[in-house]
Amino acid sequence: MKKNYFVNKAIFSFDKILMTSILSLPFTIEVLFDFGAVSVLLIPITLYFLDIKINPSKYFVFFILCFLFYNNIIYYDTHLKLHELRLRYFSSIFLLISFCINLICLKNKNVIKYVNVFFLFLSISFGATKTYNSFSLFDRSSFLEKLNFEYKTSTLEIGKSDDPVILIILDGLSSSEEIFKHTKDSIDLKLDFSLKKRGYKVISNARTESLRTTISLPSLFNFNLHNSIDKDSIENIDKGLQTIDGFQEIFNENLLVDSLLTRSVKSYSFGVGEFTRGINNDDFCYLWGDSCYSSSLENIISKTIIEAIIHGLDRDTEKVDLFRKNSLEQLENLVPAQKSFYYFHLFFPHDPYSYFEEYPNVRLNYLTISEEEYLSEHIKYKRWFVDKFIDLIEDADFQNSRIIIAGDHGFRHNKSIAPELTNIYLKGYNSINANNDITVQQIGNIILESFLVLKLE
Ligand SMILES: [Zn+2]
Repeated sequence: MKKNYFVNKAIFSFDKILMTSILSLPFTIEVLFDFGAVSVLLIPITLYFLDIKINPSKYFVFFILCFLFYNNIIYYDTHLKLHELRLRYFSSIFLLISFCINLICLKNKNVIKYVNVFFLFLSISFGATKTYNSFSLFDRSSFLEKLNFEYKTSTLEIGKSDDPVILIILDGLSSSEEIFKHTKDSIDLKLDFSLKKRGYKVISNARTESLRTTISLPSLFNFNLHNSIDKDSIENIDKGLQTIDGFQEIFNENLLVDSLLTRSVKSYSFGVGEFTRGINNDDFCYLWGDSCYSSSLENIISKTIIEAIIHGLDRDTEKVDLFRKNSLEQLENLVPAQKSFYYFHLFFPHDPYSYFEEYPNVRLNYLTISEEEYLSEHIKYKRWFVDKFIDLIEDADFQNSRIIIAGDHGFRHNKSIAPELTNIYLKGYNSINANNDITVQQIGNIILESFLVLKLE
């Protein structure tokens, strides 16, 4: 009898370990790519100790883990494809469903088998997706074809030379005139006046075809991916906040860098992402697709609901500020060379409104902030940044360079400010008329046409 009791207990705890391990398996696969093979061991071991510490005969530990591991992954996987719920509503439903399943498991131990089978299938599906994604190559031509991409030659008159071109994107730069209309304070036209005095052409109320960086920029670097304003294939899929499949790849493998290569022009990115066929700086950390701004552990946490709880009301400023500092330093230290194109992405005056101690983070509660308050914080931050930026441009030695400064979109959080309006400032483009109707996405074309076409000998 005694022996049987121990055997039973052993089998029972083996079951528990197996079940917790199976539950953690899909998550382990998910983080494997960030955390390395060690995570395969780490999670079942942690769960084993958890099993001993917390009496799992109260099976609610599974339901909590389930919520922790899978709420966000499943949310982002299904959002816009299956539902359009906000994270908080999805989480409540997810919490309720996993709680009920847990409750049923408690009442009827047989159900656990089915739950385990479900997690095994989930593991297979995660594993297959991860493997497929790591082996499948991005096919630019078919992606462009899907978007009905059509290359249109620019009608703008652009002087050609070997002098370097520097593109500085100011993220979320609202149109000066739009802000001035609101504040009636000429301080909000300071950047326009200052750059005009330095020989820049100021294009006020320049329009962008997309309000999102993740589309606006790939489009700029690919000679405008938007076909027409009425029937736009991109804006139709542009609903949520997450990146849309293929747009990051088309940014990295963009047509502009390839076209510049045919003119023997080298491209350098100090922006959101690297150029596959550009010259990349190992010391520079990109915002997109690069994990150097956060540790592996942070990457793992970012996949769980914990991230949303920590950063739900506030945006992470540390990562953004580091990227800001990094790109400002690169711009300050730039020594432009002939036949070169440089892309900078200054994450200003976009929120979070912070910059280390220089501009202590203004805590915006995105859930409750009023449009008026949001705008007034934007204006304050923009004024601060404009002063900083003017100093930088005045000190920098870009004598022979042509410079394009532009917003990727405007301010998007107040109805009285047109979000599709921003500013474009051009230095060294004398033949372009400031009254020309130039969109942000036409800039790619302007950059290409700035350089001489190689003559075949
Ligand atoms: Zn942006």
